[in-house]
Amino acid sequence: MSRFMSKAYARLDAYTPGEQPQNLSSFVKLNTNESPFPPSPMALACLTEAAGRQLRLYSDPTGRALRERLAKTYGVAMENVTLGNGSDDLLNFAFMAYGDAGMAYADISYGFNAVFADKLGVKSEIVPLKADLTIDPADYCGLGMSILIDNPNAPTGEALSRKAVERVIAGNPDNMVIVDEAYVDFGAESCVPLTKKYDNLLVIQTFSKSRALAGARLGFAIGCKDVIADMELLRNSTNPYNINRLTLSIGEAALCDPAYLEQCTQTIMENRAYTAEALKGMGFSMTNSLANFLFVKHSEIGGLELYQKLKEKGVLVRHFEKERIREYNRITIGNRQQMDVLLGRITEIINERRACACGREA
Ligand SMILES: *Cc1c(COP(=O)(O)O)cnc(C)c1O
Repeated sequence: MSRFMSKAYARLDAYTPGEQPQNLSSFVKLNTNESPFPPSPMALACLTEAAGRQLRLYSDPTGRALRERLAKTYGVAMENVTLGNGSDDLLNFAFMAYGDAGMAYADISYGFNAVFADKLGVKSEIVPLKADLTIDPADYCGLGMSILIDNPNAPTGEALSRKAVERVIAGNPDNMVIVDEAYVDFGAESCVPLTKKYDNLLVIQTFSKSRALAGARLGFAIGCKDVIADMELLRNSTNPYNINRLTLSIGEAALCDPAYLEQCTQTIMENRAYTAEALKGMGFSMTNSLANFLFVKHSEIGGLELYQKLKEKGVLVRHFEKERIREYNRITIGNRQQMDVLLGRITEIINERRACACGREA
């Protein structure tokens, strides 16, 4: 760091993204919840046009065409939608917009939440998950500050019903409730319909996971008109061109292919059930994940050890050092072949350990 760096920011503890290896082909990559499938062929088809002559022009700062398509898709009006350069962009704006009295979120939740709070000087109220790593909605009543719920939660994958989230929203009429629905397409209930009923709700979603567009960086948020105006004020005061021309076109085209989304998410859910069953048979326990990952721990092998041994064998999963969850690993659900490689490597690890233990006893 240079000696000129602002004191306000020099102390920042930045978010640590999952490893993104350069030599992609040497790993089965199950560590950052990307899709194993390519983006919709319709999304890819629009690339040549958008990537051509029009790239000399700035992107539409209002993102009108994409917002209109999103509004249609989600049954709201364009004024109820804003766009982010990934949903991380929108989370940043939400912390800026609604952090004055503090922000309450779970001790085990998306790692970026704490980073934004710290950077923006927003007081965090850390609400512990229950012993079984689920959220108790009752913990979020009467806190007198904004509330952020990842639903499904990360990295547990556990989801609250829409009814349960609605009780939090209705129980906090004078506080903002932000629901991060990055994984909602894999089987949970979305709170988007509630944005018509409540003026204290902002729902954030992303194209990164279910729509296989993590590299395009596209997120969106839905809320009542005034809440979206708050977000637009911050967006336009930061970078009105936060969504580039290529991404605007790809996003719009992806929304025109709902059958592809359905097919991809169905396959992921089937592979999730398949992998969960197999892992349970090998001595793993896990949370009830409704996301495109499983959060698992083994009865004998420690979390860090499993992460390291899998990496040696060419399979990348995500391990977190946080005390409460250090015996766990988060495993992204890939295609069936990737899951079979994972299961094969884990079987080897278990067998090698047993052979080793026998050797010691003999
Ligand atoms: C992946 C993820 C995001 C970030 O998504 P981007 O749109 O790629 O920025 C946000 N929240 C949660 C809980 C996530 O897991």
